[in-house]
Amino acid sequence: MIVAPPPTVADSWPAGIVVAVALFGLAIGSFLNVVIARLPAGRSLVRPRSTCPGCSALLKWYDNIPVLSFLALRGRCRTCGMRISWRYPIVEMVTAVVLVLAYVALGPTADFAVAVVLLPALIAITGIDLQHQLIPDAITLPGILVGLLLNLATGRISWVESVIGIVLGGGLFFLIILVSRGGMGGGDLKLGAMLGAFLGWKALLFGLFVAIVLGGVIGAAFLATGVRGRKDPIPFGPFLAAGGAMALVWGERAFSWWVRGFVG
Ligand SMILES: [Zn+2]
Repeated sequence: MIVAPPPTVADSWPAGIVVAVALFGLAIGSFLNVVIARLPAGRSLVRPRSTCPGCSALLKWYDNIPVLSFLALRGRCRTCGMRISWRYPIVEMVTAVVLVLAYVALGPTADFAVAVVLLPALIAITGIDLQHQLIPDAITLPGILVGLLLNLATGRISWVESVIGIVLGGGLFFLIILVSRGGMGGGDLKLGAMLGAFLGWKALLFGLFVAIVLGGVIGAAFLATGVRGRKDPIPFGPFLAAGGAMALVWGERAFSWWVRGFVG
């Protein structure tokens, strides 16, 4: 008797597609490094080509291959030997891993199409906020429009939910800024509105909940271990980005659990 083998992970997520998504993620991550280095300084993302900040040598194509070049060069410029930041391979690997996880969780769906746009934007915002304590308008303001248009185009959530998300995300941070007087900034407000546009108001609420819990736990751990003092600001953007990413996958489901919990 022949028994068909049970379906495996490899059947539902063909290895070829996963490898393609990972390579795509590495390439996008490489571009995000350019965004993180240049956007806060107001420099063009396209020109000039990448050079070493130490000796201004133009990088050869084979010194610009995500992760591999960093390893081959042992983290140093080929020409002058200056150290290359670990940020470069980390951003490339994080982007690849996050996009692969999104594909495994969402499959070839409209949700994944949205993830391919939203998750890289959140990684760039995280990198820039960690380095410069600012969330760039150049990402969040177009992001509000792109999030709304993507939902209109794919129909994954209605445009009404997206618009309510924008108003709710921006409005909640407006209230927090009024009450906390300096705890949060306008960058958080615009990121809140952008997340609302992409996620819709239901998943947005879950994302904000995750961000506040993560921020509270990690902030308390920083204080307890003395990594950060009571006076040192901890940027909230990375927590919002993490919450937003999780909300893209679990937000709608978590929201309906909450509603069922409240209603009965
Ligand atoms: Zn150099």
